[in-house]
Amino acid sequence: MEYFQKLRSLLNRTTKRHLLLLVAFSIFVSMVETIGITAIMPLIEITTNFDSIHSNQYYQWLFSFFGFKSDVNFVIIFGLALFGYYIFRGGVNLLYSYVIVNFVQNLYAQTSQRLFKTYISMPYQVFVKKNSSYLTKVILTEAVLMTNVVHAILLMVTECFVIIFLYVFMLIASWKITLIFTVAVMIQMIFLTQTISKRIKRVGVIRAEVQAKFYEIINRLFGNFKHIKLQDKNRLNATSNEFTMEVNRYAKVNVANTYLNSFPRVFLEASGFSMIVLLLITLVYINQSNISYILPTLSLFVLALYRLLPSVNRIIGGYNTLMYHHKSIDIVSEELETSQENLINETVEFKHKIELKNVYFSYQEMLVLENINLTIGKGEKIAFVGESGSGKSTLMDLIIGLCQPNKGEMRIDNVLIDESNLQNWRSQIGYIPQQVYLFDETIKENVCFGRKFDRALLDKVLKQANIFDFLQTKQGIGTLVGEGGIQLSGGQKQRIAIARALYGQPEVLVLDEATSALDDKTEKTIMDEIYKITKNKTLIVIAHRLSTISGCDKIYKVQDGIITQQ
Ligand code: ADP
Ligand code: MG
Repeated sequence: MEYFQKLRSLLNRTTKRHLLLLVAFSIFVSMVETIGITAIMPLIEITTNFDSIHSNQYYQWLFSFFGFKSDVNFVIIFGLALFGYYIFRGGVNLLYSYVIVNFVQNLYAQTSQRLFKTYISMPYQVFVKKNSSYLTKVILTEAVLMTNVVHAILLMVTECFVIIFLYVFMLIASWKITLIFTVAVMIQMIFLTQTISKRIKRVGVIRAEVQAKFYEIINRLFGNFKHIKLQDKNRLNATSNEFTMEVNRYAKVNVANTYLNSFPRVFLEASGFSMIVLLLITLVYINQSNISYILPTLSLFVLALYRLLPSVNRIIGGYNTLMYHHKSIDIVSEELETSQENLINETVEFKHKIELKNVYFSYQEMLVLENINLTIGKGEKIAFVGESGSGKSTLMDLIIGLCQPNKGEMRIDNVLIDESNLQNWRSQIGYIPQQVYLFDETIKENVCFGRKFDRALLDKVLKQANIFDFLQTKQGIGTLVGEGGIQLSGGQKQRIAIARALYGQPEVLVLDEATSALDDKTEKTIMDEIYKITKNKTLIVIAHRLSTISGCDKIYKVQDGIITQQ
């Protein structure tokens, strides 16, 4: 029941309404199915025995209502009507499949959009606690699995209606035979869910394990390619043997899974049809004569069984999917609860100063910054120095608004920075980190980073970052950088990152050990350029080399959570 609660929370108003319509449609479809199957009984009755047209009051009524003259005509027209009906039934079924697939895929699109939006607005502090491949998996895989579960539930609902309607008709046609069938099918279903379904569940668990292992080995290979290449022959063989073993196991459990999944259908069909044969023999034995009188009823049962077996099979299949993937509903609804920033885009003007007042910040239990008081005037060049791990980057994250203080406040020109203006403040910052991640695209895409393309500005910032000439020897701004920028050297990547920050023409430029990967000469050229660019702007630099910060007005040392001006 709680799953349904969770599922409901995953659907919005419109989707819920569509779902209701879909259920109504599925009732209609099951009625069409039932009529299609039960209509075969009168057809056989009147084709094999014309007398029945006049002995049965319903046939007689139809006969006189439409003013038929001959029995043959009546039977032929009845047959043609049924013919048309089966085409109609096919159309309805096709439409239903289309509607259902559409609904499910829309639900997927909607859910992954919601996840994406949730993630894009989660606070930075929440993001750093998460694992990015997990987040990727949630958007790409779990959302699909969740929609598969919804699909399975929908199919189960339809099949249940089909079963209910057909069952009622079967009871009306012959409650004795129906009861025998019911008991037999029940026993089989119990048997199947107790044996095969359990096996499938177990195999499913193994499969998930093996798959995870499988991915891990592949990721290890591509993520540490250099290290892998540097291994000796034996370890290299061990690595590939490990993969071989896992991939073989993966194939094996997949065989088991696919095979077991085909089991219920085969089993149900075999037992279903042998049941019919048994029934026939029994009836002949009891009557000690031929049983043509019961032919219409029997054909109803044969057809009903023919339709019911796949139904039962689909319900079992749906049940298995539910067992297999129900966790995805938990995961998706849990992830949608991820805390989000609720930012309003009010403008904050930075004309005079940035102030931190009595700021405290801690990661979980660990106090990183303690009672920080700091004023940075507009146009000032500030440097932070200190041992690695002393809290410089954390302080920077506070200033640029990525982290919020646990205690204390930040003011820009005496305006308190809070949810109302945080977004606007962040957008005034140009940030150059120590670790640069370039995506597998051209220089142009990497520098513009979704902002409007301006050729003149792009050339300008590339020159300022001292990378323009290098790019001219390649394909200019169309140069591809490879995944993570692998086709560039560390220093070149760093310079692209600088160009990316400058492209936004920020009021405040922040360098967090941004030039540490550069050689002294390049660094000096770039820093000179940066000091020149930021002549009327504010610059905050974290660096280890004194030469980097020689142009700064003030130097602060960060140590044991406090800052002291040098
Ligand atoms: P610095 O930039 O001066 O080298 P940081 O500001 O990156 O130092 O880190 C300060 C301290 O906070 C370090 O002890 C580090 O281990 C810890 N720290 C940094 N980021 C996190 C995080 N996301 N979760 C928990 N602790 C962190
Ligand atoms: Mg740092």
